[in-house]
Amino acid sequence: MSGFPFDALVVGAGFAGAVTARELAEAGLRVKILERRDQIGGNMYDYERDGVLTHLYGPHIFHTGNQAVYDYLSRFTDWVPYEHRVLGRIRGKYVPIPFNFTSMEALFPAEQAARLREKLSAAYPGESRVSVLDLMNSPDADIAELGAFVFENVFVHYTAKQWGMPAEQVDRSVINRVPVVLGYDDRYFRDPIQAMPKQGFTALFTAMLDHANISVELGCDALSRLSLTRDGRVLLDGEAFHGPVVYTGAPDELLGRALGALPYRSLRLDFETVPADSFQPASVVNYPNEEDFTRITEFKKLTGQVCPGRTVILREYPARYQPDSGLEPYYPIDSAESHALYARYREAFDRYPSLYFCGRLADYKYYNMDAAVAAALALAKKILAR
Ligand code: FAD
Ligand code: UDP
Repeated sequence: MSGFPFDALVVGAGFAGAVTARELAEAGLRVKILERRDQIGGNMYDYERDGVLTHLYGPHIFHTGNQAVYDYLSRFTDWVPYEHRVLGRIRGKYVPIPFNFTSMEALFPAEQAARLREKLSAAYPGESRVSVLDLMNSPDADIAELGAFVFENVFVHYTAKQWGMPAEQVDRSVINRVPVVLGYDDRYFRDPIQAMPKQGFTALFTAMLDHANISVELGCDALSRLSLTRDGRVLLDGEAFHGPVVYTGAPDELLGRALGALPYRSLRLDFETVPADSFQPASVVNYPNEEDFTRITEFKKLTGQVCPGRTVILREYPARYQPDSGLEPYYPIDSAESHALYARYREAFDRYPSLYFCGRLADYKYYNMDAAVAAALALAKKILAR
């Protein structure tokens, strides 16, 4: 008989932790969540800054092709339809990103743009999006030149800033998140479902965690409470905890970085309240080239909030992540070495059958929100089946 007044322990109150906790709680397990920060919601946490709903850990837009994930989250929020459109400041002009025919027409003489449109349609019949890397390798000299132009003006410097390494060294799956659009579609995402939670993300999490079987302890670093024994037991406050433990933090932290630090990329976030109705022509403007920051977000244009006379903006400055620097480990680094190190950590955890990993940090994957929710739903199912 366990001395703990709960049956399952969850570390982290982002989507990975909150969804798993909710599912276990609904199945009758009493769940305790330990969250290091003073807020729920993980990186989706939002709050009012000078009366403007603001995302403390960077802009978050919900988009998915997964109807089940959307239906699940709809139990905890109403939605405001929102299709994300991004502009890039390129050669002194605002042009759509992903780069599309409108961008091409803004930056090239009309005749050249018309010729390129025709060539692209012939070279990629029936396709609406293509990788900039494919364009660059086209056997057609004009298309290859267009690819080189887009790579240089949209991707090279942005990617070098964002990842702190030359674009050529960044995994192509990262760059291919943003294609070139063969047409006039100017939406950033193509997913059929795109929306923002009506009252914000924190309100969604508050509803999700509002369950008699869930208790949340904020400001609590699980690393100071958990320990792992050599014989495969998980101790909580020094006592063996036999129920499932779902860990959504960074795996290297859990072992005191014994095998070395997993690399992450971070951001310095610079918020400013501006005394104006509007700051910029889109919710997000990317600055791929001259500036040190990568993009500026204007929050009320994401959320649709009406807020005359003031607006909150955020400049994102990419930064090297260092443990204990006060920066957040935002982006896993996609490289063979980092995945090999991650695999060694996971192997080291194999001997703990009650320990489960889930989420962007724990799975060391560049998950969007919907993927984190889907992973958590699958994990809860697996735990409950045991
Ligand atoms: P997190 O949200 O990071 O939650 C993990 C939680 O665990 C945190 O609250 C952390 O404090 C807690 N924790 C960690 N270690 C411990 C510990 N030892 N003890 C206690 N608690 C601990 N996705 C989209 O779909 N759309 C977007 O527009 C989008 N924009 C993004 C913008 C930025 C700048 C970033 C970085 C990511 C963006 N994402 C976006 C991805 C999205 O943030 C993730 O998919 C999501 O955060 C994953 O949820 P999670 O629960 O796995 O992780
Ligand atoms: N990217 C770029 N220029 C842009 C937008 C994106 O070079 O204007 C590249 C960059 O490498 C970035 C990747 O595409 O890391 C993915 O962009 P996304 O907007 O998906 O990044 P996130 O929102 O996850 O930060």
